[in-house]
Amino acid sequence: MNRIYLDHNATTPVDPAVLEAMLPYLRDAYGNASSVHELGRAAREAVEKARAQVARLLGAEPREIVFTSGGTEADNQAIRGVLELARTPEGRPGHVVTSAIEHPAVLNTCQYVAKRGHAATYLAVDTTGRVKLAEVAPAFTPETVLVSVMLANNEIGTLQPVREVARLAHEKGIPVHTDAVQALGRVPVDVDDLGVDLLTISSHKIYGPKGTGALYVRRGTRIAPLLHGGHHENRRRAGTENVPGIVGFGRACELAGERLAEVAAHEARLRDRLQQGILARVPHVQVNGHLTERLPNTLNVGFMFVEGEGLLMNLDLEGIAVSTGSACSSGDLKPSHVLLALGLDHAAAHGTLRFSLGRSNTEVEIDATIDAVARVVERVRAMSPMYHDFRKQQQAEAASHA
Ligand code: PLP
Repeated sequence: MNRIYLDHNATTPVDPAVLEAMLPYLRDAYGNASSVHELGRAAREAVEKARAQVARLLGAEPREIVFTSGGTEADNQAIRGVLELARTPEGRPGHVVTSAIEHPAVLNTCQYVAKRGHAATYLAVDTTGRVKLAEVAPAFTPETVLVSVMLANNEIGTLQPVREVARLAHEKGIPVHTDAVQALGRVPVDVDDLGVDLLTISSHKIYGPKGTGALYVRRGTRIAPLLHGGHHENRRRAGTENVPGIVGFGRACELAGERLAEVAAHEARLRDRLQQGILARVPHVQVNGHLTERLPNTLNVGFMFVEGEGLLMNLDLEGIAVSTGSACSSGDLKPSHVLLALGLDHAAAHGTLRFSLGRSNTEVEIDATIDAVARVVERVRAMSPMYHDFRKQQQAEAASHA
């Protein structure tokens, strides 16, 4: 069975060129980047080359890049690092403003700091998933020390007006963090253009290895380290560097920059084909999220009268990998906090699938997916009491009009 992978927002396969760049550092060039001998110096050189590659993709300076174990650590580092320094000598805690549809790496970190004496405000979003700009400045208090709003949502792909949010925050001297994990490699991400002070990225979403990411920290931004130990990463992140992972991440960033425009156009064309195909073939569906301010590769569709899990498992049996809500909450049958924040009710939120495309998907795969979705939805709806009730009601209405 040929597998069709449409779950690139969960993770991407490692690019062969990335693997090739990493292999020497898993085999012979095993030095510790802090060692002063030749093997150590070679590892240090590789780490610094990768730092420059990551920085170039973001329009940053290499010294503003701190390598982490991934997006989750970078989000924790940004929020906890700023909040830890926030407490004033008078003992006043800090306040963070974020959005209701952040990834759990941000949301649960905000909840963590809020339980420890700080405060957090969660901005509501409109029905397309965009924060309401008019509500941003009124959320600031004299204690607000950080605004954290993601660049692109992982479930619906909606892009946030981060540049405008940053402008509002900077008018009050408040630093801004954005989680750009899903945006990187799919839309241009430039730290100066966005005007952000802290920015999170992750390697495994851009055809790099898992377990590697980075936090961009604008020069002059005050932040306490999350991990304590050696003097690695300029004393900003203790722990022996994951040299092969960092090398792979650097190469993945280089490739992402070279291919961005071509990949985005390819993915958008296929995503639109998938959207049109599903809308044409399957009744009672709706597209969730913003229709234009959206990642080029992401399509979130609500199918009335069915559960997303049933659809996912049936598609999996046909060799098609998609997801319901976010990968991090699959296996957790609570409806997605993102879809609820858009105003969907529980039943509608349960009936959604996320299709997230990648650069090697083809038109043939998309057409096969449209066929499979049409077949599977019909089969699952045939077993749905909700759908039967709806059909009976429709028939009764038709009879009364006859
Ligand atoms: N932020 C967003 C928006 C994500 O989609 C993810 C992963 O799904 C993360 C953060 C976490 O990144 P990582 O898997 O590298 O910890």
